[in-house]
Amino acid sequence: MSTLQSVRGMNDVLPESADIWHFISEQLRSLCNLYGYREIRTPLLERTELFKRTIGEQTDIVEKEMYTFIDNNGESVTLRPEATASCVRASVEHGLVHNKQAKLWYFGPMFRHEKPQKGRYRQFHQFGIEALGWPGPDIDAELLIFASRLWKRLGVQSVKLEINTLGSSESRENYKNALVEYLSQYTAELDEDSQRRLFKNPLRILDSKNTRTREILKDAPNLFDYLDDSSLQQFTRLQAILAKADVQYTVNPGLVRGLDYYTSTVFEWVTDKLGAQSAVLAGGRYDGLVTQLGGKPTPAAGFAMGIERLIELVLLEGPPMQSILPEVYMVTMGDLAELEGIVLAETLRDSGIRVHSHFGGGNFKKQFKKADQSGARYAVVLGETELQQQMATIKDLRTESEQLSVPFQDVAKYLGRGLDTNC
Ligand code: ATP
Ligand code: MG
Repeated sequence: MSTLQSVRGMNDVLPESADIWHFISEQLRSLCNLYGYREIRTPLLERTELFKRTIGEQTDIVEKEMYTFIDNNGESVTLRPEATASCVRASVEHGLVHNKQAKLWYFGPMFRHEKPQKGRYRQFHQFGIEALGWPGPDIDAELLIFASRLWKRLGVQSVKLEINTLGSSESRENYKNALVEYLSQYTAELDEDSQRRLFKNPLRILDSKNTRTREILKDAPNLFDYLDDSSLQQFTRLQAILAKADVQYTVNPGLVRGLDYYTSTVFEWVTDKLGAQSAVLAGGRYDGLVTQLGGKPTPAAGFAMGIERLIELVLLEGPPMQSILPEVYMVTMGDLAELEGIVLAETLRDSGIRVHSHFGGGNFKKQFKKADQSGARYAVVLGETELQQQMATIKDLRTESEQLSVPFQDVAKYLGRGLDTNC
């Protein structure tokens, strides 16, 4: 029979990679505790309407990347392509932002039907934090300070921060009109994507990598000339806080996010170590989102980080990952020793010692071979002689030191102290 493979763009995390996933999620959780963020878990499936209304109908995500289907009740549902909309939906639904503020974090899979390649998958994972109820820019700065502490903890050095401000939705609208008017003179010369975006999502054209489009953009109206005072002040203050906190950044006036809900401050941490998939963490302010989902006006800001890209970076630049190996491999010979071995293994685990028991019998040679392959430091051996004497044999599998005979109840104590101490 033919074998079955996973769905394209959706990866298995194999045991050999599990340690780094745990390492990263533990670091993230402990940072969230340091800064006072609490976890929220929302369903992977949401009503399609949620994403259409928030991310925007004319964005790449909603236009072509969503996993949308009609369920058995005839309702259109979508596997979440991102989690900010869900966090806000849940916060409004459960009153988390009703005359209150909320600092939330999440970690989990997201789904986008993109072209799979290195660093770009159809099921991928994001960690994100959302601060609901603060107008900024102080909290926006803290989001970036949080991220920069994360890079330090993980030993990631190649990431660089880019920031920009998009202004209020009104000033952005004025700018959009001016941009469209200017670019319309060059419609035929723009690259295909930009032509498509011209009337649908013109700000995204600022992001184009096409040489001719970039040339045309040089003389385009400047977003900064259209910004409202309040956004400008926020942006200046944000920069002052970042300077004080020693967070390096550059202002990138071409930085526009691919989701419609962003307002004023936006940012991205990018790296040159991951090829075309350069964005690792991205976010900004989304002051209109809570009202868009039926809540009272609530300022908000947050970011999302791609875990697969982060893991690539940590593997390249971070500390060497040590996998968690067993400390003891339990070798037993005969039915009685097997029973005794089960009890002894449990006693060792009571002391926090990682024990792999041998299963399936076999002679000593076979069992020692498995013990060696397991990576364990010690073999604890129970055979006929050991049972008669009520002593276990401890053998150091990694050095030439002599094996020891130890009363059952003292094995944990011996292992805790190492084999070369007399106890
Ligand atoms: P990109 O420009 O790479 O398409 P994006 O702007 O679509 O990213 P966001 O929606 O802001 O990304 O998501 C935040 C982060 O999630 C990205 O910076 C990236 O690290 C990660 N990410 C986004 N899409 C994918 C994907 N398909 N596979 C893996 N990681 C992804
Ligand atoms: Mg994308």
